[in-house]
Amino acid sequence: MKLSDAIRIQAEPQGRFNLRNSDGHTDAMGGALQSVGRLDDYLKHGGGEDCVVFSDEQRQVLRELGWLELLSVAVDCPACSTYPQRLYGRITHLNDKHEWSRDQIADFVQTVEAAPVKVDEKLKV
Ligand SMILES: [Zn+2]
Repeated sequence: MKLSDAIRIQAEPQGRFNLRNSDGHTDAMGGALQSVGRLDDYLKHGGGEDCVVFSDEQRQVLRELGWLELLSVAVDCPACSTYPQRLYGRITHLNDKHEWSRDQIADFVQTVEAAPVKVDEKLKV
C-alpha cells in the first residue's frame, strides 16, 4: 500500500506528538503503520517515537512496507520556511507543529510519491 493511502484511510481520531498516545490516538505516521497492521510491531522494537532514532528492526519494518526510501527523501516544509528534512520527520512536523489533518498530510505525501527526488544520504532514515 502506498504511504499516502495508509495515512488517508486511518479513520481513528488523530493524535499529536507520538506515534500512538496513551489514549490510543495515532499521529499521521502512527496511523499509517496502524492502517497496515504494523504499528505494534514497530513500537515494540523501540528506537524512539521521535523522528531521529530508529532501530534496525524499525528500518526493516519500513523496508518491508516499501516506505524506507520514500521516508528518507529530503523535502521542504510546504507550510513554513524551515530547513529541509527527510519525509519521516516532515510528516511529524506537519502533524504536530502545523496540526495538519491526515488528509492534508496524505495529499502532501502524494506529491512526494509522484515526484521523488534524490535521497539525501545524510538524512537517510
Ligand atoms: Zn513547517
